[in-house]
Amino acid sequence: MKIMNVEFVISAVRPDQYPVDALPEFALAGRSNVGKSSLINKMIMRKGLARTSSQPGKTQQLNYYRVNDEVYLVDFPGYGYAKVSKVQRAQFGTMIETFLSDREPLKMVFLIIDIRHEPSVDDCLMYDWLKHYEIPVCVVTTKADKIPKSKWDKHVKMVKKKLGFQTGDYHVLFSSETGLGRDELWAIINQTIAE
Ligand code: GDP
Repeated sequence: MKIMNVEFVISAVRPDQYPVDALPEFALAGRSNVGKSSLINKMIMRKGLARTSSQPGKTQQLNYYRVNDEVYLVDFPGYGYAKVSKVQRAQFGTMIETFLSDREPLKMVFLIIDIRHEPSVDDCLMYDWLKHYEIPVCVVTTKADKIPKSKWDKHVKMVKKKLGFQTGDYHVLFSSETGLGRDELWAIINQTIAE
């Protein structure tokens, strides 16, 4: 995908702030520090546009990026941050569930997982929500450059097993360092839009 233009549109904190132009949306979910901002920046070839999503207290913010006037990448707040209060955690849950259950333009969610570690309880909960709301899922195992190639298979198997990865889900190996998986992710987006 040739990136012609990228525009940061809004940090939406309420549904009435979500865009109304009905362009297809692809959301990105993952725990704080998993590498979500780096992945978005790699996807859109802009070094600093996606700010780190791990800031505590921003649990209700959906960041919308419009790419080539064709699609939105929607950055969910990073979850699993230890210092987030119970109230914030509940607010996050309510916002995400409302979004997943009722967001017409949403085409797919990329669930970003650190290839080195077993998915967390929150990762599994997110995956289960996506399945419950019948949202197409692409599991992205990122930071692939952090382990030797020879171990990729074993780790991917471990991640899939823990999540309960289903036939029909997508999986992409990714590295923001090397750009591995970038073209594959755009291909999935383009194919989904074309359907
Ligand atoms: P976020 O909180 O999920 O948005 O995470 P960031 O994108 O801010 O990344 C967290 C840390 O992991 C930063 O220090 C990044 O440089 C690093 N990081 C992210 N992705 C990769 C990757 O693919 N490979 C390596 N080696 N480091 C990464």
